Amino acid sequence: MSDAAAILAIANNQTHQDTTQYPAGHASENDPNVLVDDKHRIIGLRNPQPGDLPTTATDEQPRLWPEIQSLIETHIHNQPRSQQVELGPSELGTTCVHCLAAKLAGWPRQNRQAAWLPFIGTSVHAQFEQLFPALNEQGFDDTGKGIRFETEKKVTVGHLSGLYGGYDIGGHIDLYDRWNKATADWKVTGTSTLRSAKANGPSQQYRIQASLYGIGLDNENEPIERCCIYFLPRNGISLNDAVTWESDWDPRPGRWALARAQLLVNFMDVIEQADGPEVRDAWISLLPKATDHCFDCGSWPDDGTLNEFNDSNKAVVPDKWKQLIPLLDPQYSGATA
Ligand SMILES: [Zn+2]
Repeated sequence: MSDAAAILAIANNQTHQDTTQYPAGHASENDPNVLVDDKHRIIGLRNPQPGDLPTTATDEQPRLWPEIQSLIETHIHNQPRSQQVELGPSELGTTCVHCLAAKLAGWPRQNRQAAWLPFIGTSVHAQFEQLFPALNEQGFDDTGKGIRFETEKKVTVGHLSGLYGGYDIGGHIDLYDRWNKATADWKVTGTSTLRSAKANGPSQQYRIQASLYGIGLDNENEPIERCCIYFLPRNGISLNDAVTWESDWDPRPGRWALARAQLLVNFMDVIEQADGPEVRDAWISLLPKATDHCFDCGSWPDDGTLNEFNDSNKAVVPDKWKQLIPLLDPQYSGATA
């Protein structure tokens, strides 16, 4: 065998070994995007760095993607959560009085981008919804009271009523663990929310949501003692990055949020009866917005340039209605569990 032939044979052999060890699509420790420990075991993937990849892999414009993107976004827009009009337990505890009032008044939304990040969360919820009931002991249980896990358990946490009708505030508990008398709520979150949850615990909105779920269970005489909120990393490589919060159930924050929403409905009814919907809408525009992050700020007609709202913003709000505004606390100031 010549030298050249020998080198070729070794190279062929190595190529063959490589493909055997790392089939197509499998991470290789030699890949610059793969993180390895000091024993060369693969422990994860490097986060993409700016400039890693062009946004299109070739110079050609995508031909199929626009339709596929539109199909996915239409699906997301048609999700029940995107079309929800009535308020749910996850919204009542917000520190953004302005957006709470806008929702209660049924303001129309401006065009919103398809909610891709919530869709990822919804997809994780769908997996867990299947997982936990499958772990229940199987067998006949005519009362259902012996069942340990229930997912997406429907509860009614309270009722709002106004001059134009009212509705029950219903919600779905991500996981109810009847044996431990506990609720669990999954929050699939990005890095900054994880960091904030670790430093400060869950937001007021999340704590009040948990309190309301307990109220809903208590309304049905289901046992409830503990509330859990689990922040699951959207970008982490393992659940070791999860941030957890578990607390004794306290109904007081939930009751406060229900009372505040009812007060808002009453105020808006009184203003509308006296001075009409234009003044009511102008009053809503004066309500304080959240100083921390609010998912809804920026999605309302009074944030944009729609003419009808510019007109209604010109409505003069009498001082007596302005004096109601400080009665609507953004923050729950009562005892926390
Ligand atoms: Zn807001």
